[in-house]
Amino acid sequence: MKTKFKLLAIVTFMLLGLALATIINVSLNFRDYSIASAVDKAKMTAIIVKDGLTSHMVNGMMDKRQYYLEQISANDEVKSLWLVRGEKVIDQYGQGYNDETIRDSIDTQVLSSGKMLKKISEKTGNITLRVTIPYKATINGGNINCLSCHDVNRGDTLGAISMEFDITDMRSDGMITILKILGINLLFIIVALVLINYYVSPFIKLFSNLQEGIRKAYRGDFTHIFTSKVGGEAGSVVSQLNTLFHKMHEAFGEIKINLATFVTQNSTSDDPLHEAKTVINELSDIYRFKKTIELDENKKVVYTRIRDILKSKFHLTHFAMYEINNKHNKRTLIYITDEQSQSICHEQMVNDDAQKCRAHRTGSTVISTEFENLCKNCTAEDSHYICLPFNINEDASILISITTKKEVDIAKFTASIPSIKNYLEAAKPVIESRILMEKLHDSSLRDGMTNLYNRRFLEEFIDKLMSQAQREENNYHIMMIDVDFFKMVNDTYGHDVGDTVIVALAKILKDNIREADLAIRYGGEEFIIMLHNSTDEGALKVAQKIHSAFAKLIFDVGVNEKLHKTISIGMAKYPSDGDTIWKCIKYADTALYEAKNTGRNKIVVFQPDMFDNNADNDDY
Ligand code: GH3
Ligand code: MG
Ligand code: MG
Repeated sequence: MKTKFKLLAIVTFMLLGLALATIINVSLNFRDYSIASAVDKAKMTAIIVKDGLTSHMVNGMMDKRQYYLEQISANDEVKSLWLVRGEKVIDQYGQGYNDETIRDSIDTQVLSSGKMLKKISEKTGNITLRVTIPYKATINGGNINCLSCHDVNRGDTLGAISMEFDITDMRSDGMITILKILGINLLFIIVALVLINYYVSPFIKLFSNLQEGIRKAYRGDFTHIFTSKVGGEAGSVVSQLNTLFHKMHEAFGEIKINLATFVTQNSTSDDPLHEAKTVINELSDIYRFKKTIELDENKKVVYTRIRDILKSKFHLTHFAMYEINNKHNKRTLIYITDEQSQSICHEQMVNDDAQKCRAHRTGSTVISTEFENLCKNCTAEDSHYICLPFNINEDASILISITTKKEVDIAKFTASIPSIKNYLEAAKPVIESRILMEKLHDSSLRDGMTNLYNRRFLEEFIDKLMSQAQREENNYHIMMIDVDFFKMVNDTYGHDVGDTVIVALAKILKDNIREADLAIRYGGEEFIIMLHNSTDEGALKVAQKIHSAFAKLIFDVGVNEKLHKTISIGMAKYPSDGDTIWKCIKYADTALYEAKNTGRNKIVVFQPDMFDNNADNDDY
């Protein structure tokens, strides 16, 4: 609106300036024009008088000239009219009438110079124009020859005629003209303003509408709908902008919803762009964090990383981290910033009975400022605290206890909780797998003869492995391996030779798999290999390598007596063959059965029809 008034003010100002210039110009010209017209009239009168007097003179009626002059000066505009005689005429014809003598200096000047003079004088509101015109002696083509009567030279001044005109009306006429011009100009200005207002208003409205929409968009709000009564190109710009804003609004809405599925975020701004940037930064930080801890060898290192993040990213200076063994209900301190002053629990009591920790027991964050003496087992009298529980799995939980002397910090730390949880969430599967790894080193889960995992291991951990595999979308190629006609070895060469064959096979298995793969002694001379995240071709290659490596083994079983053995391998793949690992072990066994039935010493990959044809299939 401001712009519109500015524009109208500028146009008004310009038009008024134009009107003023016109008025000044007109008033100046009007005065000149009035004077020039009076002078012309005077010249005309002078000629008429001159011709009249000449004819009076020629006709010998000079005594009647007074009457003639009175008739001419009876004209309304001529206030007075008189004649003066030049010196040479006086010398020849005498003084003439009384009123033909010089009246003032102008008469004298004109007579002596022979040039016309004019003078404007103003008295009591009346304006008078005085014009004195000289009469020169002429020889006018034989008609009138001044020299024939006057004893003068050609060009001599015979006399002069003076006239006074009342030009008072000139001013009022001028004023009326100026008022008329002013009126016309004002009318023009009003019409111009109305027209400008009519044609410019829609553009100004469109402009302020655009401004409002862009201001909202700057804050990230793309809901504005642009409206305009202006058609043509401006109209199409408006409709394009509306389409663009609609797309932006939808896109940002989707981005916001999608990002919210990746991380929990305290909404920091209404601006979806800003929020998207914050969330993406957070995601990228978490991604880097996750990638780093995935390569950490044990949970202790992972805990150290969490501690470092709490310090560097969340600027926590006083906090403690605990691990809780859910099965034994014990709490263990992992890290504390300042053991002496910052331990805020009845340490031993809560360590011995983790249920005494309110945050752990309730599974919800405890914020001391929410209620007086909120946690009964807290010893912090002059500190405020936030205790954040986080469950890793059924075996373990962690707890972060943040303390501060300043109550204002609590709000700041509370705002960081969703973000801290995002990091813990990212660390959760890694901590879980490291806990699992620790358990895997447990000797009761290994076979003493081959040092491979035993069947108990499989029974105890298969579900955990599977849930981890599901979460991380891992796959396992499962191989069931059995020595062909092994009984014969025992029977022919004795149990010790049999054991040697089993140990040799176990070594081949270990040598041909990677760290992340599992080798399990499933039964007497029956083994399971679980290849982690392998391709079908890769898995088959491993099977072939194991198969041929074993076939190449030569066992010394007596003087000049060598023993060669072969193995059969059945293969299946989790989760593409079956939705549980147990099912897939069964399918691998089915494939092994097929290998045995079709001549042994071979690798058979499970096909669904094998299981359909197998009479022994149970429900898994
Ligand atoms: P197939 O080709 O069908 O597998 O024939 P096989 O003779 O190998 O039959 P099977 O696999 O059923 O044989 C298993 C034999 O392995 C039975 C058992 O006496 C023997 N065995 C089981 N555990 C041990 C062990 O620890 N040491 C030794 N030496 N032999 C074992
Ligand atoms: Mg066998
Ligand atoms: Mg067997």
